[in-house]
Amino acid sequence: MTHRVRLSTFACCGVAALAIGCSRAAAPPAPPAAEPRVVDLGHALAETDPTWSGDRVFKHTTVATIARDGYFGAGFSTEEHFGTHLDAPAHFAAEGLTADRIPADRLVRPAVCINVAAAVKSNEDYRVTLSDLQAFEREHGSIAEGVIVAIATGWDERWPDQGRYMNVRAGVKHFPGLTVEAAQHLIQRRVAGIVIDTPSVDYGPSQGFEVHHATMPAGIYHIENAAGLTTLPAAGFTLVVAPIKIHDGSGGPARVFGLIR
Ligand SMILES: [Zn+2]
Repeated sequence: MTHRVRLSTFACCGVAALAIGCSRAAAPPAPPAAEPRVVDLGHALAETDPTWSGDRVFKHTTVATIARDGYFGAGFSTEEHFGTHLDAPAHFAAEGLTADRIPADRLVRPAVCINVAAAVKSNEDYRVTLSDLQAFEREHGSIAEGVIVAIATGWDERWPDQGRYMNVRAGVKHFPGLTVEAAQHLIQRRVAGIVIDTPSVDYGPSQGFEVHHATMPAGIYHIENAAGLTTLPAAGFTLVVAPIKIHDGSGGPARVFGLIR
């Protein structure tokens, strides 16, 4: 019945439109919003990828092949903090959320990108400063509560070379990160997470994980070893952070996507 009523209403309107114009017709539907461009912001996981210790921590073993078994399958084992991965707040905070408990709506959020690649070119130990964030906010407005902040350093250009990526000299790693003051500003802004294209939000020479000790108790998660962040706009896009959902996990490998309109 409903269907027939709709049909007759439409027919009536059609006749009216022919006769006197259909002044009460519904406005034409808005054109569909343009689909966002989706960019992949992670590395594929391979056994030879860089690791914090230099040891092989990821194993990927073929268990079935199409030629032999009729299907292809493999097993894998890994440390949680390998490749493009999540640090859940529980990684450094005893009461922090584990990977499986971070609400999904904290993982898909509006985002901004602070690009310090130019500064990193002349200082591989560059740390994002409070004044970098203040300069960004003067240009793009205050960093809003709940956004994900991407820190683009261009360091991913060195992936997957263990030597160039971890960049150890005299037993000390050298790569960019954040200052504690910048981290404290992001805590004040109540951001959801920080995504960086280096091995850690703490710069290479850090011995105490000072930024981790500030952000994780504040409930801010990290994505480390991200890729392609220098291609992101400064603002006006969405990040999708999709870590493997390990029960009681301190983190885990993650897919990360940018949705750019
Ligand atoms: Zn970390």
